[in-house]
Amino acid sequence: MVGSFHRDTWVEVDLDAIFHNVASLRTFLRKETAIMAVVKANAYGHGDVQVAQTALEAGASYLAVAFLDEALALRKKGIEAPILVLGAVRPEDIQLAARERITLTVFQQEWLEKAKQWHQDGPPVALHLKMDTGMGRLGVKEEEETKRIVAMIDEHSAFSLEGVYTHFATADEIDTQYFSFQYENFLRMLNWLPYQPKWIHCGNSATSLRFPDKVFNMVRFGIAMYGLTPSLALKPHLPFELKEAFSLHSRIVHVKRLLPGEKVSYGATYTVEKEEWIGTVPIGYADGWIRKLQNFQVLVNGVKAPIIGRICMDQMMIRLPEYVPVGTKVTLIGKQGDAQVTMDDVAQYLGTINYEIPCTISYRVPRIFL
Ligand code: PLP
Repeated sequence: MVGSFHRDTWVEVDLDAIFHNVASLRTFLRKETAIMAVVKANAYGHGDVQVAQTALEAGASYLAVAFLDEALALRKKGIEAPILVLGAVRPEDIQLAARERITLTVFQQEWLEKAKQWHQDGPPVALHLKMDTGMGRLGVKEEEETKRIVAMIDEHSAFSLEGVYTHFATADEIDTQYFSFQYENFLRMLNWLPYQPKWIHCGNSATSLRFPDKVFNMVRFGIAMYGLTPSLALKPHLPFELKEAFSLHSRIVHVKRLLPGEKVSYGATYTVEKEEWIGTVPIGYADGWIRKLQNFQVLVNGVKAPIIGRICMDQMMIRLPEYVPVGTKVTLIGKQGDAQVTMDDVAQYLGTINYEIPCTISYRVPRIFL
């Protein structure tokens, strides 16, 4: 996404970290287990094509996205590797998917009935059948429907069954009871199929890292590829080091001394107590740096500085430990010397999961690839 940009707030994406995370998984998994790199949502906010290329170089052989548009965007940017769309695609778009060699997820008989009317000619569209083993989202649950779907796929020249998969709801939790329940369900459901398609997959990051012998012949590797742990509970149990790829930085654009009693930002909610140095930082909620981050801390010269007063649409104010000149770097996520603000720190402060944070840092913030 970076061409030239003219603002002093940016994301750095460390592609070597992505390479390290995928290459480490490649070494960790059995040779015959393929890696599907999950690059939906602009690669969890990191940059779709750059992450896709790096993952493919590091040992991934398949890509996954959520929507057809995301797959088409990758094709436009020159990605030739197979791409699976994990989410629903309109039946009328099947011809487009076939032409662009994009693999689709199927989970409904009616979809096949409609889609076959839209498929005009050319090669069949490759399909992965999604089974609902307990996530309650997309997926077939019944044996009869599964059999009818496979029969329809086999009957019609528009389709070919390339894979079957499911998704776990609790693979990142220490308690494995529900995970085992879903895994057993999947084993049972696989027996409904008249034959085994080429790819069978069920493992997200947590499953790949914890249960590499339960992933069949492919994993769908998302959050850990970005160097983020699927859950805080799993942090002490990782089989190899994950390197965080995403960091967020800005530069102070105005520095001023405020006197006791003076106020800062909308609502005048912050009152200066003793003489303070205040810095204005050009990032705000329109960048995804949301208002709830008020009072969170960022790094300036390796020292924590609190966000004071309300975060505005495009700017926020921080209390500086001492005078620093305009242009001083502020790190909102990442390292400065020995000090660090991690993605998990931000997520915990907001009462959410690390997945949400890079996804929410908006398109307005340019991504720089290291
Ligand atoms: N598979 C599916 C169907 C998903 O929805 C996701 C992510 O949401 C993934 C795989 C990747 O999961 P993770 O990011 O936990 O590795």
